[in-house]
Amino acid sequence: MRLRNITGSREIIADSKWCRETPKDMAGKWREHFGNDHPLYVEIGMGKGRFLMDNAASYPDIDYVGIEKYSSVLLRGIQKLEEEPLPNVSLIRMEAEYITDVFAKGEVDRIYLNFSDPWPKDRHAKRRLPSREFLARYSEILVPGGTVEFKTDNRPLFDFAIEEVEAAGWDMEICTYDLHADEELMRNNIMTEYEEKFSSIGNPICKYVIKRPD
Ligand code: SAH
Repeated sequence: MRLRNITGSREIIADSKWCRETPKDMAGKWREHFGNDHPLYVEIGMGKGRFLMDNAASYPDIDYVGIEKYSSVLLRGIQKLEEEPLPNVSLIRMEAEYITDVFAKGEVDRIYLNFSDPWPKDRHAKRRLPSREFLARYSEILVPGGTVEFKTDNRPLFDFAIEEVEAAGWDMEICTYDLHADEELMRNNIMTEYEEKFSSIGNPICKYVIKRPD
């Protein structure tokens, strides 16, 4: 997702209490930051943040950190939080590649990837957020038994992601090629902006839940 560059968005982020830029000093301090010992869930590539905020409002006993690389997109999330503050949310503007600088070993309980960029060229496979290179980074920051949940309507990306799960030796807990047809999985499903858009034009939504090897 890319919005027109909004003048001053970097400055607004710098002044916001909701958001920071690649906060390396936070590694190992997230629970202190939220002032509790609740589970910590992270969404990478949160876009405007609808999924993150709806989750945070529904589950006040879980802390949520949203990561987004574009400040112009993140700005929408900050504006939403200014209007409707959520004490269990924090946002980061950063490139996900550096995620192990921002969270300590075993600090995160769950990672969400929603409608991640496909990077269709083979030579860009390492940039895909469900790639084995990224799974290795997630493995470092997740607790033993921690999970990654991935949703997309992009079938080639999903097929690639499944191969990467096997290669990385993670356990497949849930895997569906048509989430919206699965009554049980839909019971607690919170829609993302892209999910709403692509399911409404008839695209099936794929989803997996995978567990980190111990
Ligand atoms: N999760 C949202 C948005 C999906 S679009 C939804 O489902 O509606 C993918 C988003 O991920 C974009 O906003 C893009 O800027 C962000 N993104 C992609 N790669 C990223 C990376 N490596 N680090 C941080 N953000 C990333």
